[in-house]
Amino acid sequence: MVAPNPFVSAKEHVDRVGKLLGLEDCVIEMLKSPRRELGVNFPVKMDNGCIRIFSGYRVQHNSARGPCKGGIRYHPNVTLDEVRALAMWMTWKCAVVGLPYGGAKGGVICNPKELSKGELERITRRYTSEISIIIGPQMDIPAPDVYTDAQTMAWIMDTYSMGVGYSVPGVVTGKPIEIGGSKGREEATSRGVMYIAQEAARVKGMDLKGARVAIQGFGNVGWNAARLLHQEGGAKIIAVSDSSGGIYNEKGLDPLSVSEHKKKTGSVQNYQRTRNITNEELLELDCDILVPAALENVITKENAPRIKAKIIVEGANGPTTPEADRMLSDKGIMIMPDILANAGGVTVSYFEWVQDLQFFFWTTDQIKERLKEIMTNAFARVHEVAESKKVDHRTAAYMLALKEVARAFELRGVYP
Ligand code: NAD
Repeated sequence: MVAPNPFVSAKEHVDRVGKLLGLEDCVIEMLKSPRRELGVNFPVKMDNGCIRIFSGYRVQHNSARGPCKGGIRYHPNVTLDEVRALAMWMTWKCAVVGLPYGGAKGGVICNPKELSKGELERITRRYTSEISIIIGPQMDIPAPDVYTDAQTMAWIMDTYSMGVGYSVPGVVTGKPIEIGGSKGREEATSRGVMYIAQEAARVKGMDLKGARVAIQGFGNVGWNAARLLHQEGGAKIIAVSDSSGGIYNEKGLDPLSVSEHKKKTGSVQNYQRTRNITNEELLELDCDILVPAALENVITKENAPRIKAKIIVEGANGPTTPEADRMLSDKGIMIMPDILANAGGVTVSYFEWVQDLQFFFWTTDQIKERLKEIMTNAFARVHEVAESKKVDHRTAAYMLALKEVARAFELRGVYP
């Protein structure tokens, strides 16, 4: 099976919702078109002394509402279309939660699992230098995504700062706290996932406490979601997975202990008193809440008929194809769309950027309180549109987002 092109899927939602909103064709076209795309091919000295050429991208989808913002992904399957889709989703995400940003995304085609720390550092520094002509605290602010982390952001911040001659913490978010990072950033996406799961369960007449949750992906988003949903939400985590497969126990797992096991063995599989399952099986488990928190296009028209979750909270970006989305909605499954559900990450990234620009830092409690307020307000706005227009939550979130961006475009006008 050929994997669906995420950029085609991303544009489909814009076409559909743009028409629903009665936007002019030229506005829909503008909303679908990435504003700026930079492709770079650059040499890196490997540990064995050879020089390898790596390819990467930075795409800025839209800056009508403010500077561009979005993560950087290191993965062998990165493509320009994937980065375009991810950049576009960032635009909608920032608009849904009301952050003064447009969307961007970056990626480097590489397999971090086969690279040493030194090689990763040299790739990061050279890629940063290549894209430094379009990033900056007022222009475009990267952040972590799949297989990039706080250390990667520290290298980006340092490389950019060396270029201009002084420290610029505001050029990236998701940095270590010691160099201008924000408290609460690492768990922010997952904390947002938990708040949205809480709200979704509430309107669905369910209790998050005791709810059976299956989570795909055990990286930053998946692991922190498992921990927070378990510790603070009181949910029962019945299954988790990573790229090597998953584990299942209907009585529930302790995410902390699974994390220790993964640290020791490199995988969540073969954890005590659980059954090994595949990533496909995890998605189809009988559970109350399913949190896809790995990669895009994992819920498709092939497996949608077998999905049994009552609520899906999209921790990952683009985990559900448009066909699967329609099929699940028809089955009455409530989907909390990525552009709402995983917006906690960019929200605390925004807090980090604001703190960096002011050189004045907030407490963990302030971060949690402000994040909760933004996420629950965004949920309320999306839910209100879903109820009043009788549409699913993804359509409602897109309606809000597209309207905001189209309005900004209209107010600013066309230059020259
Ligand atoms: P990560 O690199 O920390 O973790 C990725 C996880 O996915 C790992 O556990 C990995 O083993 C697993 N994985 C990789 N390939 C897989 C496969 N084929 N099947 C199943 N699992 C697989 O990345 P992350 O930051 O947790 O990002 C996960 C998703 O969340 C991505 O879609 C990302 O765009 C999205 N997201 C991340 C953030 C953030 O703040 N980090 C914010 C919003 C959205």
